[in-house]
Amino acid sequence: MTLKLTDIVLTYPDGDRTLTALDHVELAVAPGEFTAVVGPSGSGKSSLLAIAATLITPASGTVSVAGHDVTNASQVARTRIRRDHIGIVFQQSNLLASLTTLDQLLVMADLSGRSTREAAVRARELLLAMDLASKEDKRPHQLSGGERQRVNIARALMNRPEVLLIDEPTSALDHRRGEQIVSLLADLTREHGLATVMVTHDLATLAMVDSVLTMADGKLTAGAVTSVG
Ligand code: ADP
Ligand code: MG
Repeated sequence: MTLKLTDIVLTYPDGDRTLTALDHVELAVAPGEFTAVVGPSGSGKSSLLAIAATLITPASGTVSVAGHDVTNASQVARTRIRRDHIGIVFQQSNLLASLTTLDQLLVMADLSGRSTREAAVRARELLLAMDLASKEDKRPHQLSGGERQRVNIARALMNRPEVLLIDEPTSALDHRRGEQIVSLLADLTREHGLATVMVTHDLATLAMVDSVLTMADGKLTAGAVTSVG
């Protein structure tokens, strides 16, 4: 398994009590597998992605990413694992307003210390694959919502991750564009053998994924619910 979460418990302080956001969660995603997580608002979906992204540490349980056990890894080691093995597309687009599309991608390569020339080749290859080649000199405000989301995805793939984590990629898009994004994610997952986890409210797109999990009150179970909040 490229991504494996075992018996994860996550709590947040909540006044003088604690809130259990993830309650003994198990998740295993193989290379080339596209998994969707659905469930009501506040059920723990984003927390699950934050754990998988090694951004937060669970109270108990283990996290393994691309063969690396991150559970007891140092902060430095976790940052390196995240940078080299995990692509993350957050719910809120975090494109930098002053940068062109091409530079949004090159910034990722700077962070990992690869050569500029190699990075530019990789960035242009991704932009071509995402139908963004003609947009490389545009800034975020000159792009449509769907184009911005594709830039986010391209950027997440810059460092050739094995794991791709995406939080609600279609929430800012109309139905047709939302379907196109999920279809693109399905293609990328297969083509690059990614272990992909997508949180979504969009039940219409679930036909394009390999497995559906439902989060409710911090508990993750197999299968889809018929309605989500
Ligand atoms: P979802 O993404 O399904 O809407 P979240 O993972 O964001 O759910 O939140 C799960 C629960 O944890 C909610 O009750 C939320 O209020 C709480 N929560 C999320 N993040 C924090 C935080 N940083 N501090 C305290 N409580 C949090
Ligand atoms: Mg969320």
